[in-house]
Amino acid sequence: MQRPIPWPWILLALLLLLLAPGPAGRFLLDLLGGLTLLLLLLPLLFGAAGLVGWQLLRRRLRTCSACGFISVGNAVCPACGTPFDASSVAPSSPEIRASDVTIDVDVVEVDDQGS
Ligand SMILES: [Zn+2]
Repeated sequence: MQRPIPWPWILLALLLLLLAPGPAGRFLLDLLGGLTLLLLLLPLLFGAAGLVGWQLLRRRLRTCSACGFISVGNAVCPACGTPFDASSVAPSSPEIRASDVTIDVDVVEVDDQGS
C-alpha cells in the first residue's frame, strides 16, 4: 500500500530551506537563479538559432515567378514545372538574382494574389 507523496510538506520544507539562512538555502537560491537564468536565456538562444536557420533556409528558398510556389533546393518548380533559372529575367549574376526574386515575391505575392 503506497502513501501519496506529501507535496505540501515538501513545499513547506523547501520554503523553510529558502527562508533559512545557510548553505542549503543559498544553494537552493543559486539553483533557482540558475534555472531562471536558463529559462530566460533559452528562448533567446532558440530565437537566435531559429533566426540563423531561417536565414540559411531563406538563402536556399526559391519562389516560382509563375505560380508563387516556394520550394527548397529544386531546379524546377514542383507545382507547375517552370524552371527557376528561366522563369525570371536575369539582370546580371545568378546569385544576386536569386535573392532579389525571393524578396520581391515575398512582398508582392501576398499583396496581389492572396490566393
Ligand atoms: Zn511554379
